[in-house]
Amino acid sequence: MMDVLIDTDAADRLVADMLPALPGERIALREAIGRVLRQIVRAETAQPPFDRVMMDGVALRWRDELSRRLRVAGAQMAGEVGQALRDDDDCIDVTTGAVLPEGCDCVIPVERFRRDGDVVALEEGYDPARGQFIHRRGADCAEGAVVLEGGVRIGGPEMSMLASNGVATVEVARAPRIAIISTGDELVPVEATLRPGQIRRSNDLALAASLERGGFDRVSLHHVLDDRDAVRDSLDALLRAHDVLVLSGGVSMGQRDFVPDCLESLGVRCVLHGIAQRPGKPIWVGIGPESQAVFALPGNPVSSLVCMTRYVRPALLRASGLAVPVEYASIRGDTGKPLRLARFLPVRLESDPSGTLLAHARGWSNSGDFTALGGTHGIVELPPERSIAEGAPVRVFRW
Ligand code: AMP
Ligand code: MG
Repeated sequence: MMDVLIDTDAADRLVADMLPALPGERIALREAIGRVLRQIVRAETAQPPFDRVMMDGVALRWRDELSRRLRVAGAQMAGEVGQALRDDDDCIDVTTGAVLPEGCDCVIPVERFRRDGDVVALEEGYDPARGQFIHRRGADCAEGAVVLEGGVRIGGPEMSMLASNGVATVEVARAPRIAIISTGDELVPVEATLRPGQIRRSNDLALAASLERGGFDRVSLHHVLDDRDAVRDSLDALLRAHDVLVLSGGVSMGQRDFVPDCLESLGVRCVLHGIAQRPGKPIWVGIGPESQAVFALPGNPVSSLVCMTRYVRPALLRASGLAVPVEYASIRGDTGKPLRLARFLPVRLESDPSGTLLAHARGWSNSGDFTALGGTHGIVELPPERSIAEGAPVRVFRW
């Protein structure tokens, strides 16, 4: 165990250095929503792949003195090919998404003509421009151009590019198998009837919610009593079957806080024990014999969520290959007195009309006060030994 408390940024770096990058896996595109892309995607063809009609209407050959009445000589709907214009006084019926018929260089939208059988009469005074409503082949990108880099989460825009370029199976970061383990004799399931001295297990579900928001959904929940052998045996089994262990409780100095000892006896090397912060100071982080990441968080519900939000989830996102953006807000409200430790306060976030992100501090009675978390959007980190002026920029971590 380390005796000296390290600061929050140093802790972040230690955790980042400890965690190996998650391996990749190739999965069906349909399964890849929300996963982190781990490959470059290139344009399969020029985009668009052909001169594409952008309006429903008729296609024709543009001239200075365009005749105002044109004969409809054929039709080329989206998905069809083969039409060519033979006569300058003809036009061809087209729909949005159709290949521009050969010999045409102008599209007139339906709103601009009247139609009588197969004769089209252009609106009086309407002066079309050459090339209008044609999305030229290759205007968006050339064949082979990089359209996506790795290190992004696959959402709507990414899916659109993956699918349109024929990427049927995609390389993504493997979803880590995560076990959340609650420790404590006092803990009972949500649906239990409480007996005196008991409380419901809430950390496991709160931590799982936070992980799932980060896109980590291979999560199982476990409970262990405060018994040295029970803790050791369960951790031994869970380490074998998971990439990440997140524990809550049992890391402080109490008589029944067996977690750090048990982990070390199982070959989990301590990377840090204790961070100069409140809440969450007793956090223990280590790396297992098969490079499993082990985060043992204090059991206090606020502390465990703060540690998850500040360290665990960002570290897992980075290990997935995702860039985690740094976010600041302008602090508002009473932030209390400075401490020798960094402080985390729950906040409500709101943008003012100038576009500045404001963080309204929500005080709490103590770090066990999880009722103060209701309606908050995240936490801010206040540096140690400094009073924080109203309006000062502070780092924000969203729940
Ligand atoms: P510990 O870190 O084990 O000393 O726990 C600190 C406080 O957090 C105690 O009041 C525990 O009852 C409470 N606690 C521990 N684990 C949980 C949990 N899974 N859900 C809710 N509260 C918990
Ligand atoms: Mg406990």
